[in-house]
Amino acid sequence: MTTQQTACILCSRNCGLTVEVDEATGRLGRIEGDELHPVSKGYLCQKAARLAHYQEHDDRLEHPLRRKPDGSFARVSWDEALREIAARLVAIRERHGGRAFAFYGGGGQGNHLGGAYSRQLGKAMKSRFVYSALAQEKTGDFWVNGRLFGDQRCHLTEDVEHAEFVLFIGTNPFQAHGIPNARDTLRELSKSTTRTMVVVDPRKTETARLADVHLQVRPGTDAFLMAAMLGLIVREGLHDRAFLAARCTGFEALEQELGTLPVEDYVRRADVALADVERVARAFARARTACVRIDLGLQQSLHSTLNSYLEKLLFLVTGHFGRAGCNNFHTSFMPILGNTDERLGKHPRTAHHQMFPIAGLYPPNILPDEIEHPGEDRLRAMVVDSANPALTGADTAGYARAFARLELLVVVDVAMSETARLAHYVLPAASQFEKWEATGFNLEFPDQAFQLRHPLLPRRGESLPEAEIYTRLLEEMGELPRRFPVLELIARREPAATGHLGAIAALGAAIATRPRWAPYAASILYRTLGPALSTARARPGLEPPAAAVPLLALALAYAARYPREVRRAGHQGNRLTLGSALFRKILDTPQGTLISRHDFADAWSFIAHDDGRIHLDIPEMRGALEALRREPPPDATRPLVLLAGERRSYNANQIFRDPTWRRVDRDGALRMHPDDARALGLVDGGRALCSTDGGELTVTIELDDALRPGMVTLPHGYGQRYRGGAPHGPELNRLTVRAHCDPLARTPFHKHVPATVRALDGAGG
Ligand code: SF4
Repeated sequence: MTTQQTACILCSRNCGLTVEVDEATGRLGRIEGDELHPVSKGYLCQKAARLAHYQEHDDRLEHPLRRKPDGSFARVSWDEALREIAARLVAIRERHGGRAFAFYGGGGQGNHLGGAYSRQLGKAMKSRFVYSALAQEKTGDFWVNGRLFGDQRCHLTEDVEHAEFVLFIGTNPFQAHGIPNARDTLRELSKSTTRTMVVVDPRKTETARLADVHLQVRPGTDAFLMAAMLGLIVREGLHDRAFLAARCTGFEALEQELGTLPVEDYVRRADVALADVERVARAFARARTACVRIDLGLQQSLHSTLNSYLEKLLFLVTGHFGRAGCNNFHTSFMPILGNTDERLGKHPRTAHHQMFPIAGLYPPNILPDEIEHPGEDRLRAMVVDSANPALTGADTAGYARAFARLELLVVVDVAMSETARLAHYVLPAASQFEKWEATGFNLEFPDQAFQLRHPLLPRRGESLPEAEIYTRLLEEMGELPRRFPVLELIARREPAATGHLGAIAALGAAIATRPRWAPYAASILYRTLGPALSTARARPGLEPPAAAVPLLALALAYAARYPREVRRAGHQGNRLTLGSALFRKILDTPQGTLISRHDFADAWSFIAHDDGRIHLDIPEMRGALEALRREPPPDATRPLVLLAGERRSYNANQIFRDPTWRRVDRDGALRMHPDDARALGLVDGGRALCSTDGGELTVTIELDDALRPGMVTLPHGYGQRYRGGAPHGPELNRLTVRAHCDPLARTPFHKHVPATVRALDGAGG
């Protein structure tokens, strides 16, 4: 047994771990929180202890596979698979152009390092269509950030740990995490007599139980509640006039609208007590420091993009921004998001929906239509990487139908997923514990950290890291030569003291003379400088660190942008060497390292608008806010509202396939208030049929008086056909409908699906 450092890959917090590794069997043993991790500092939740179920299970892929005409798969060599895929991709590109190709995925909660390589394929295919699960969650938020702050990459975080007043809306950090060391932070907040925690949620969640005030709103009415709070704040003059005058534009246009909102009507619609809303709105506005933390309960519910706008208005009109204990920006080390303002017309719209990208990403909700589009410009070929849209996209049946129409579907994954079963080729990636890996979800401020995870175990079978898979594919496509003799020589001979800057300069010179190489800098570095990278921490028999080489370029860029802040985090070097010193520290510190230390006041330098101000007035959002006044009550044909995708103790993203990882809730039960169950003749543990406009599922009933009557919940992360068998737990997206989505960002309204539930014969009470 040896003890190694890595991170949990089950949610965006990526808590640092120490893991016992059995060298003889190649298995993971005891898993604990890593005290040395710069952010989580030893914290972890119960899910991390079960990570061995991700590493070891029967759906792991070990060899490249090609689908046979009868639908089964045959093992093929890497050379054969990549040669055939390359030939088919090139033929599709030559015949139909870049619009015929889309890339999907490129990383989840823990694997973003491969993205530096996989994104190159889009360039080779002359395609800018990148679909991502992030675009069925957060793109409405990114769009609003773009308008408010001038760049869709101006992403926000919240200083919950130091806020006097915290407003959680549509989030249950106790289960969903998303804030530093969530359970400890919530308990601290709850215990304090000088701080206030308010939760807005239709469920009495674990977080709500710790709160000072719980507003148990009617599902889907968050926009009404937030608008009412803003109306109260403006009506009572509690907005921060000095902040608005000094830092914002456009408040005048909003003031009239906010000041005349029908507050009492909206509060009635949300079905909470007016006195409670008044108390919360006043205390939030008057607090010395306050922040708002939201998540998918808000972003995947009715009025998704408007919700993102209103929650930001709450902390902006009250001046709770750019200070300790408030909402703030954060830096980004890995470029996960782009900035694609649709008003500039620079980014292609899709053929069928004429949809534009937000932050560079297209929404999964439109993907099946883009494949089934009747025109010549339809989508014909896709590579899906580390994602399982056949199970996670709204409308599972629609996805299966559309994927069957693709001329080429290639899946790169660790496991035989539901999407992989639909593919023409399946390429096995090394697991996140068998290669160098990292996450781009670094949301910390003012201190920022980064962890490059070292491999713990040898690769399984013929699996390869993404760096190797995509570089070989580009070589097969004729985009890159297989050797770069001059660059290889420079990288090999360069003395360690120069921090690889000679290799970087040589690459720059090579690209200057051959600009067609420019999009493939990651693969060229991987082939040339990669083999020369070394760290004393690399272990024999495991993957060498070559795939980590793009981080050198990122470290150089980060240090050039934030030299003072990088030095404050303890890194040393001059204008030329600071970035390579940062890279060296990242490479040699498997527990992760602080990379920069900002001041809160630096937030203002992040704003991208030329005037340096926050532009509060967004005409589309003002229109949506006005439209709330005329919105009819929701259709009552289906009497229940299904929250599709609840986070629970034993669900996670799709990377757990072996159902035995769950200690409880093996069926992924449908939770229902006892009063609703009684009215429907259902009992705890009984079987029932849940129906929506999308389809129906047989479910197990679990009574839960924490829910508001009238709502039912099902968990995400179930439905896998482990070992090719029947689905384990609910295939949730058989119930969701693609058209039930936000009109702007196309985010599905998963948290508000009209539903009916009835007892199956003999199963009720
Ligand atoms: S699932 Fe738990 S242990 Fe894993 S990263 Fe999230 S909070 Fe940390």
